[in-house]
Amino acid sequence: MLHEVMFYTKGPGDQVNCKVCPRLCNIVPGKRGFCRVRENESGILYATNYAECSSYALDPIEKKPLYHFYPGHLIMSLGTVGCNLRCGFCQNWQIAQGTPSTTRLNPEQVVKLALKQKERGYPCVGLAYTYSEPFMWYEYVYDTAKLARDAGLVNVLVTNGYVNEMPLRELLPYIDAMNIDVKAFTDDFYNSTCAGRLEPVLRTVELAYGHCHIEITNLLVTGLNDSPEEINRLVDWLAGVDPEIPLHFSVIFPITSWSYRLPPGRH
Ligand code: SF4
Repeated sequence: MLHEVMFYTKGPGDQVNCKVCPRLCNIVPGKRGFCRVRENESGILYATNYAECSSYALDPIEKKPLYHFYPGHLIMSLGTVGCNLRCGFCQNWQIAQGTPSTTRLNPEQVVKLALKQKERGYPCVGLAYTYSEPFMWYEYVYDTAKLARDAGLVNVLVTNGYVNEMPLRELLPYIDAMNIDVKAFTDDFYNSTCAGRLEPVLRTVELAYGHCHIEITNLLVTGLNDSPEEINRLVDWLAGVDPEIPLHFSVIFPITSWSYRLPPGRH
């Protein structure tokens, strides 16, 4: 179902400029943005993936990973398709870059699904927008998070943090916790390995801090972002925001079916 997006401007010749993430894609009629899920139809920018779930499951909250937010509880987790980064080591490339089948779950349905888990006696605290990048179905997350909040559920984002300030500020009042990937601490890594930039991600961490509970994840990619110097710089920067913010280091699972290959001898 097409759903008009919230943050974009119209330009000459029915071109549109998407404002959700730092890519600021300029999209001509009939084309989609870098993330493959926002399409210009006759000068209106639509989300093509509104309510289209690529996967959903009741997960332990520690799987997000969140270790200091309702520990021992479960959370109804759901994701869509598309991504605004292109990480060569992507662990979820089938849904980030592929075209998997989806199940339609509108905001009311997914809130009911989470509430039903509670009725059944599961310690389900709310909804996690995860598996794929939640800002890729921003409008759906926004609508669902408001309903979930009204129903007494919490909302969790598991995100790459590559988002613009205005959409982030609009959504934060409905978000209770975030796990934000800081994939490396150099612009060079973001540029060459993810087709992105570091600065917007750090800004997201700083903005989210103070609005909701945050934890950070750094996926160590052998030989590319795991030097002690780089890790020390990340740790020092995060301690400058707040030394109490949990920082998770996760290990890469080598994936050979997409573009990334670990350097020889580094598996
Ligand atoms: S959300 Fe998608 S279309 Fe919008 S700026 Fe980012 S990559 Fe481009």
